[in-house]
Amino acid sequence: MSLNAWLSEGEAVEADWSGHVRRLALRGELGHARRGALLLDLPALSAPYACDPSGCTPGLRAPRTRSCCADLDVMLSGAELAAIEAALPDIAASLQASDPRWTSGAPTWAASGLLTRPERRCVFAVLGEDRSLSCGLHRFEDERALPRGTVKPLPCRLFPLLVVDLGDDQHLLTAVSRANIKNGVPSPRWFPCLRDAARATSVADQTAETLVSLWGQHAARSIRKQTRAFRAQV
Ligand code: SF4
Repeated sequence: MSLNAWLSEGEAVEADWSGHVRRLALRGELGHARRGALLLDLPALSAPYACDPSGCTPGLRAPRTRSCCADLDVMLSGAELAAIEAALPDIAASLQASDPRWTSGAPTWAASGLLTRPERRCVFAVLGEDRSLSCGLHRFEDERALPRGTVKPLPCRLFPLLVVDLGDDQHLLTAVSRANIKNGVPSPRWFPCLRDAARATSVADQTAETLVSLWGQHAARSIRKQTRAFRAQV
């Protein structure tokens, strides 16, 4: 699903983020892309991050740890629900061999617009040979050479990024971070991918593919350049 279609369905994060944006601006921590239409939360985007499902999968993880694919609610837009529904027979065929929850057909996969989580993980989260989680929709897209986002929901493509609708066609690109907890965002301390300060890679660098697919090469380059410059100075 395209970012514009997703935004037009009103799926971006909503809350009063004006104070947060003002504080970032006052501290010189606010970046810009797409001619000012996209504001950048530079501290959040330059934070250390690297996805490692072996550290957050239920059964493998340490206490007080959460996983985006096992613990977070994923709300789908109407178009995302329709896209998965249309591809469901093929998705089921892809998952049947690797996920016992799909062996006898598709389980209930959405309820009130949210992905279900039978057996403590997303209905599309598959366990690999090492018992860690990966996304069955991501794999399905790769198997069929489909563009990313054909069926994988946008919130999942974004994590840990967040797109906040600021109104007047302006958006804030931020991420799960301590400073955002007051706006209802989960604490990064729950997620091993975000709580290890020694990680060499940043949120912006690790989500580069998503940045390119949603905002284009030029904007993605600018976002990463600004976050790297910010990271180098702190
Ligand atoms: S759809 Fe994929 S990425 Fe999203 S929560 Fe489920 S398994 Fe994880």
